[in-house]
Amino acid sequence: MDILEIRNIWNEVKLELRDEIPAHAYYSWFEGIESVGFDNNIFSLITVHQLAPQIVRQNYYKQISSALKKRFGENVDFDLRYDADFAEKYVKEKKKEASKAKPVKLDEDDEQKKVLDNLAKMQSFSNLNLKYKFENYVVGENNRFAHAVAMAVAKNPAKKYNPLFIYGGSGLGKTHLMQAIGHHVLFNKSKLRVRYIKTEDYYNEVIKNIQCSDRVSRMDKFRQKYRNVDVLLIDDIQFLESKKATMDEIFHTFDSLHNNNKQIVITSDRLPKDIPTLPDRLRTRFEMGLMVDITPPDFETRVAILKNLGEQQGMDIPFEVYEYIANNFVSNVRELEGAFNKVSAFADIEGIPLSIEFAKKVLNCESAKKEFSVGDVAKAVADFYGVSIDDFKSTSRSQKISSSRHVAVYLAREITEKSFETIAEFFNKKHTTMLYSYDKIKDDIKVNKELERTVFDLKSKIKEM
Ligand code: ADP
Ligand code: MG
Repeated sequence: MDILEIRNIWNEVKLELRDEIPAHAYYSWFEGIESVGFDNNIFSLITVHQLAPQIVRQNYYKQISSALKKRFGENVDFDLRYDADFAEKYVKEKKKEASKAKPVKLDEDDEQKKVLDNLAKMQSFSNLNLKYKFENYVVGENNRFAHAVAMAVAKNPAKKYNPLFIYGGSGLGKTHLMQAIGHHVLFNKSKLRVRYIKTEDYYNEVIKNIQCSDRVSRMDKFRQKYRNVDVLLIDDIQFLESKKATMDEIFHTFDSLHNNNKQIVITSDRLPKDIPTLPDRLRTRFEMGLMVDITPPDFETRVAILKNLGEQQGMDIPFEVYEYIANNFVSNVRELEGAFNKVSAFADIEGIPLSIEFAKKVLNCESAKKEFSVGDVAKAVADFYGVSIDDFKSTSRSQKISSSRHVAVYLAREITEKSFETIAEFFNKKHTTMLYSYDKIKDDIKVNKELERTVFDLKSKIKEM
């Protein structure tokens, strides 16, 4: 969803709220809020008022949620944070207008509109979500090196580490770190042009353009768009697999930027060598700068991430609630955040303070979640399909064994988040075979509802063990 659509939705929501909320409250709190992104089913908002996150959540949570639901057709979480850069720009603009001492002074709304318009222009060009900044990024052992390198790149783009290749499992903060680089550059070197793109969207653009009758001029424009920047951020490059035309485009864009000393940052859920069918000419390019990984956060870091979220959203939450959530969501920051949002949303809706009992009730996970081994998962899948672990380890290609083996590999990766090397060791196979199984199930469940259901049920069953 692009930033203009997001802004339209928010403007509609605001109009609706204006009719429901007392005028003074509306002007005090809602006028200073702007929408900046929609990711992971979370609608991101920022405000220029430090107190707004707390006040708005406590008093208007229900109204905002239901207005968003109307437009999305389903429950959508929202995330409202104070943004210091946004506030600073706003105040600066105000001072500038005041010092001009025009006969007709702009009123507050106009000044804000100006800042917002600039912000929207910047966002719509760069395609960044303002939620993902260094200020909101918690550093722990799992991401210390990646963070330091990202900061170095942000301060001095294209000096060292080019490309910067960030890899790690899903939900561990790759997109956040990558976009933080973009924001840092935009706010500190405003002349530089930054553009963020998801590989999937890039691919869709290529396909759309080459299908048009005027494809030559369209592709020209498209190339300009990605080659005429100082910092290009390409997210989830593993998506590129087998997409020949898009690979060619990326290849030429990469060379054009690199030769002109422009910074490239890439993320992926795996190393370049593990992206099947990635040609050597691309692999060697991705590997020629610096590759850094992000691993799952340890307990202290998980607590710190939750605390940061609570503070950002102006909530006063007992420490034991943070600990409880951190103990139960161990391997994925997106899920950790989701659990936190769920608990805080329920508390806001019911209008009661957050307690550990309340969190337990909402999250419904009585005992600490245990860490699963590849063996645990394989055993559960083998039992379900009536085969044995030895069958999995064997070279048998019988339909029953190989299809249940694919599922076991997929779930082993999803549940344990172990590397494909570790999983391969257990199954006594090559790690490329594991990748193949994983991708197969990932694709199959998109089109096969029955398989999706089975895999989902198995996953829940294993997680309850
Ligand atoms: P990935 O791109 O690796 O799948 P994301 O960057 O989308 O993961 O992160 C998932 C969610 O977790 C985002 O909302 C992000 O803001 C949050 N998150 C991840 N790592 C951190 C961190 N170290 N500090 C704060 N928030 C984080
Ligand atoms: Mg991501």
